Amino acid sequence: MTAAGGSDTAAPVMIVTGGSRGIGAATARLAAQAGYAVVVNYAQRRDAAEAVVAQITADGGRAEAVAGDVGREADILALFEAADRLGRLAVLVNNAGVVDAAQPVVEMSAERLERMFRINAIGSILCAREAIRRMATSRGGQGGVIVNLGSAASKLGAANQYVDYASAKGAIDTFTVGLAREVAADGIRVAAVRPGIIDTDIHASGGIPDRAASMAPSLPMRRPGTAEEVARAILWLASDAASYSSGAILDVSGARAVLP
Ligand code: NAP
Repeated sequence: MTAAGGSDTAAPVMIVTGGSRGIGAATARLAAQAGYAVVVNYAQRRDAAEAVVAQITADGGRAEAVAGDVGREADILALFEAADRLGRLAVLVNNAGVVDAAQPVVEMSAERLERMFRINAIGSILCAREAIRRMATSRGGQGGVIVNLGSAASKLGAANQYVDYASAKGAIDTFTVGLAREVAADGIRVAAVRPGIIDTDIHASGGIPDRAASMAPSLPMRRPGTAEEVARAILWLASDAASYSSGAILDVSGARAVLP
């Protein structure tokens, strides 16, 4: 665990799961600029998480890198305990997510499916549970915001690539709507962003490193999105400017997979 930054314990805390790279790292940087003390969670890439923390600190912000696999409940509990030491939890961004190698369903193993749902769906639900325990006004909390990362894949289905991933992201859509209703009277807003094709490392981890660039000509805007473009939507949903937006699922897909 690496702590850095000033001693302003009054700053509201934002946990960004998977904050070491891609959309999570961009979110962590924007959150620090907005005045949050940021918990930059990571699974493996301590170097990347520490680079995000170092940049935030150099810019005068406050951040802490905390290791933890959101596929493991014990790691989630430790992550939230680390956040408690930083201050009052105001925002959880359920960003950590994985794809696997492109494969048709007929080839998929049970182990692959269990990992996909454990990290992408169950991990987000368990993190939300821990956030609610701290935020709910009926439990003595001051309310808060939970922003989940869905995917345009939940509407497209990702046939012959990642139907398992798309299905787990479909669970995130439903979870967002149901949880928003469940905790609205407890001062907690719940929303999701649903990115389209965004230029990050996730495509390489699925075995298609040039996926974002090669798909550009077929995308409505003829380009993939950037991590910062998604992060700006996350920060807006987290902010008081979105005070009546709950249960909302915001497509950040450059018009890909949007429905009337
Ligand atoms: P990315 O560049 O591959 O980064 C993934 C991040 O998640 C890394 O910080 C990684 O940590 C972390 N992570 C992976 N498994 C984890 C685990 N088990 N526990 C904790 N952290 C874990 O991904 P991204 O493209 O930014 O995606 C971020 C989110 O947006 C994901 O939920 C993804 O499904 C969603 N999304 C992305 C796209 C896209 O086109 N990029 C589109 C739709 C939705 P390490 O650095 O330690 O590995």
